Amino acid sequence: MSRVLLTLNAGSSSVKFAVFEGDTGSTEPVIFGKIAGIGNAPIFSARDKNGAPLDKGMLETLEVSADHDQVIARLLPWLETHHGQGALAAVGHRVVHGGRDFTAPERISDKVLQKLETLAPLAPLHQPHNIASIRAVANWKPDLPQIACFDTSFHRDQMRPAKRFALPRSLTDEGIIRYGFHGLSYDHIASVLPEHLGKQADARIIIAHLGNGASMCAMKDRKSQATTMGFTALDGLMMGRRCGTLDPGVVLYLMQSKGMQAAEIEKLLYKKSGLLGVSGLTNDMQVLQNSDDPHAKDAIELYCYRAASGLAGLVPSIGGLDAVVFTAGIGENSALVRRQICDQLGWLGVTLDDAANTRNEVVISTAASKVKVLVIPTNEELVVAKACRNFLS
Ligand code: ADP
Repeated sequence: MSRVLLTLNAGSSSVKFAVFEGDTGSTEPVIFGKIAGIGNAPIFSARDKNGAPLDKGMLETLEVSADHDQVIARLLPWLETHHGQGALAAVGHRVVHGGRDFTAPERISDKVLQKLETLAPLAPLHQPHNIASIRAVANWKPDLPQIACFDTSFHRDQMRPAKRFALPRSLTDEGIIRYGFHGLSYDHIASVLPEHLGKQADARIIIAHLGNGASMCAMKDRKSQATTMGFTALDGLMMGRRCGTLDPGVVLYLMQSKGMQAAEIEKLLYKKSGLLGVSGLTNDMQVLQNSDDPHAKDAIELYCYRAASGLAGLVPSIGGLDAVVFTAGIGENSALVRRQICDQLGWLGVTLDDAANTRNEVVISTAASKVKVLVIPTNEELVVAKACRNFLS
C-alpha cells in the first residue's frame, strides 16, 4: 500500500495543512488547505490536487471559540477519510523555535517535546500552537511518527558576529543569541534558486519573506549568512502586528514610567503594533493598499522604509548584492510594496521593471539592473514533507 505524509503548520490563529505522497518525489500535495480565524469563528478551506474545493462542512457543529486542539482533533480524522488510498505514515510539523539543541529535523519523543516547551516563551505566538498540534496528533494516534522541522535550523551555521548581541559574554554563553526564523521558507527558496539563476544562485542574495511575519535572509552559496530576526521572531522588520526592531529603552520606559507589566508589553509588541498599530485599521496589507485612510498610507510607507533599511543592513554580511527575491503573501503579491522597497535601493544597483512588477512576473528587474530582482513563491510545506520522506527512507 502506498504511503502519505501530512504536514501541519500552526500559526497564531491558523493551521495550514498538506498531504503529500510519501513514496514518490511529487512536489504537488494531494490535499492542501487552511483553517483560519481559530478562536474566533474558524474558516475552513481545502483543495484536492486538481484544485477542486473539498468538503466545507468539516467544522460544522464546532464551537466558534474552538481552540487549536479542538480544531486539529477535528481535522485529523477528516483528512484520513479524504486523502485517498495511501496509509498515513508520518506527520511533519513546522516548529518555530529549535533553540540551540535542534539544528536539523528531529523525530518527536516525550523528551523532545519537553525541550520544545521550554522554548515556548521565546516564540509565544507560535510555539505553543506547534506543540498543541503535536499533542493532538499523539492523542489521535500515539504510534504515528512525528517529525519537527525548525525555522531556526537554516541559520545554524552563520558566522559569529551575525549571531551575537553586544551583551556580556555570560549571557551569550547562556544562549541569548540571534537565532533567526523563517528557515523553512528560506530553505525552499535556496533549493529552487538554481532553476531561476543558474550558477548565480550561489552569489550574494537577499531573500525577503514578507507575510504576516516578515524577515530577510542574506545568503551566499545558498547558506544563511545573516538575518533580520534575532532571539525571538519579534526583531527586525515591521510586520502585520509585530513592531520589529525597537530601541530597548522603549521597553524600559513602558515599565518604569508607564508601570506596564511584562504580559501587557508582550501583547503590545506582538499583537498591537506593526501595520495594525500604525494604521489603527488592520494588519492586512491588501486591505491597507485599498484604503484611502492616510494612516494606511503612512503604515505602508513605514513598512517599506523599514524593509529597505533592513535589507541594506544585511549587505555587509555578504559583501555586496547580486539578487533580491521577494516571497510570502506580501512579497509574492504586492507590486506596490515591492516598488516602494526597491525605489529606496537604487544606490545598491536595483532598477525595477514596472510593467513586469505589476504583472507579478518572476523577474521584475530591468535587463540593465545590476541587481536582479525576482518573485518566487515559498513552500514551507514541501520542505517539511521532504524531511518526512528522508525520515521514512
Ligand atoms: P502568514 O505569515 O500568515 O503565512 P502570508 O504569507 O499568507 O502570511 O501573508 C499574508 C499577507 O499577505 C497579508 O498581509 C495579506 O494582506 C498579504 N497579501 C496577500 N495577497 C495580497 C495581495 N494581492 N496584495 C497585497 N497583499 C496581499
